[in-house]
Amino acid sequence: MGIDDELNGQLELEAAMELNRRQVSEEQLLRFEGYIADILTAMGLDLNTPATVNTPRRFVRALYDSTEGYDGDPKLLTVFHTECRGGPDCRLSQVIEGPIHFFALCEHHALPFHGHAYVGYIAHEDIIGISKLTRLVRLFAKRFTVQERIGQQIADALDSMLHPHGVAVYLEAHHLCTQMRGVREVAPKTRTTFWRGEYENQPDLRAEFFKACGL
Ligand SMILES: [Zn+2]
Ligand SMILES: [Zn+2]
Repeated sequence: MGIDDELNGQLELEAAMELNRRQVSEEQLLRFEGYIADILTAMGLDLNTPATVNTPRRFVRALYDSTEGYDGDPKLLTVFHTECRGGPDCRLSQVIEGPIHFFALCEHHALPFHGHAYVGYIAHEDIIGISKLTRLVRLFAKRFTVQERIGQQIADALDSMLHPHGVAVYLEAHHLCTQMRGVREVAPKTRTTFWRGEYENQPDLRAEFFKACGL
């Protein structure tokens, strides 16, 4: 692989990560703490106790940390080259990781949804370390988003990182925006699947993926 190919791969990967690197100054954070203090007080929280006096600060920091997926993950850039030998191994052998626990914020309510992801792929000439699949899930989950988009982004990013023969993503999550309000306290899990490449037209591969995931 030449330098140009490598550079193009890097750019393609950066694009697939759909980053939105944040620049939030200390001065802004202080201002946000004031807004949050107003809101929490109006909602009924007494901020004049030793336990709560720093709650607005903690809330703003927690929100920032919970959405750090926008800033990217430099450890995701390493891809290992193998040799595709063709044949059934290349078309059928799956790498499957899961359950990968994730936490996200729903973009409609800014409240959490959380659950598990299962990610599978059929390698061609490139592979990544297994722990990178966890990083990839968190890169897209730690944002304001929806469950469907996380799955699509994981599938598309793996596609551009590895150019594999196929990608499978299954997500199941509880959405607190439906569970914390109103009467639906115990809502069912929301399940979503995404298939790319060989998985699209091979039901056997999809069945094997679910079976390997214990689903
Ligand atoms: Zn919501
Ligand atoms: Zn191959």
